[in-house]
Amino acid sequence: MNILVTGGAGFIGSAVVRYLVGEVGQRVLNIDSLTYAGNLNSLGQVSASADYMFSQTDIRDTQALSAILEGFAPDRIMHLAAESHVDRSIDGPADFIQTNVVGTLSLLEAARGYWNAMPRGRRQAFRFHHVSTDEVYGDLGPDDALFTEATPYQPSSPYSASKAASDHLVRAWHRTYGLPVVVSNCSNNYGPFQFPEKMIPHMILNALAGEPLPVYGDGLQIRDWLHVEDHARALWTVCEHGQVGRTYNVGGDSERTNIAVIRAICDALQQVPDLALDGFEHFSDLITTVEDRPGHDRRYAIDNSRIQSELGWSPRETFESGLEKTIRWYLDNRKWWEDVLSGEYRLSRIGKSGNAHA
Ligand code: NAD
Repeated sequence: MNILVTGGAGFIGSAVVRYLVGEVGQRVLNIDSLTYAGNLNSLGQVSASADYMFSQTDIRDTQALSAILEGFAPDRIMHLAAESHVDRSIDGPADFIQTNVVGTLSLLEAARGYWNAMPRGRRQAFRFHHVSTDEVYGDLGPDDALFTEATPYQPSSPYSASKAASDHLVRAWHRTYGLPVVVSNCSNNYGPFQFPEKMIPHMILNALAGEPLPVYGDGLQIRDWLHVEDHARALWTVCEHGQVGRTYNVGGDSERTNIAVIRAICDALQQVPDLALDGFEHFSDLITTVEDRPGHDRRYAIDNSRIQSELGWSPRETFESGLEKTIRWYLDNRKWWEDVLSGEYRLSRIGKSGNAHA
């Protein structure tokens, strides 16, 4: 099959592309505008495969998308391109509305035109998979029931509000125009190739540099964590076997407080031989409290029983096994994150796409 993936140079998108090309054996066209979060180095060996193609395209460019759809003739669209960092959405919400809302509209319109013109058999088999977040549901108190697919939307941040808006658009395109969509809402991801602004890599790399480990407020905010490779598998399962028009929550059954995650990282690093401890005895000595994020959600927790019972997916990694692998990956792949921290990764895109801005 031909699969068009948007945002395939990002953290989760690159895991999806590596999985589809490297393990499932599909043909993939990756559409990504290469914002600061896009990194072609995250595709690894897959970028050399004959089954992988890349186009540096902004999803807001409906005309370009229509031409790409006609040329590539995808059987599936998996839509992951987004502005994804909550702190950035608080500092500058406009980009989030542009990409997450306007960009999704543009992609839906291009997909609708393409789908309408498809031959009947392929039209029925076509799927548009919209990848979203559990943050659209707002937050939970300590004893509240988990988020289900029926939980009302109550987004708190500009990021989650923009994702909520995009989810509504996708469902409306199904209801109004019949576009065959599936939607998935997932909890916090972690794993290899995650941009160091996100909590887990940020803490690992700060600890390795002997720099402070900043904890928002009391650190008792609870998140459910899912390893990115489990998410990539879940996404393909939903895309292939999900019922048209249906939503699937995806989670790792791993609720942890932020401070517990940070302490687990410190404890794991403490076990690694030969790491320099410069002016401190234990990595946890680096933990410092900073002012809480405005509107910070207290708790997210996912009921993933629908995807488990209907589609037979479940996570393979526990949080402990996934975190250990992730820390090991950052220790073994210094070049990847050193290029990110130095900005070198932005130069590599020029060579690979031909028309990028450094
Ligand atoms: P990311 O920020 O790592 O990657 C986003 C990618 O989209 C980047 O490669 C970027 O260059 C690209 N992009 C941004 N704007 C674009 C535009 N206008 N046109 C084309 N490409 C553009 O994000 P991620 O963490 O990989 O998240 C992927 C998707 O999964 C997002 O839709 C996000 O909302 C969702 N999600 C993320 C998490 C998480 O924990 N990271 C959890 C649940 C859902």
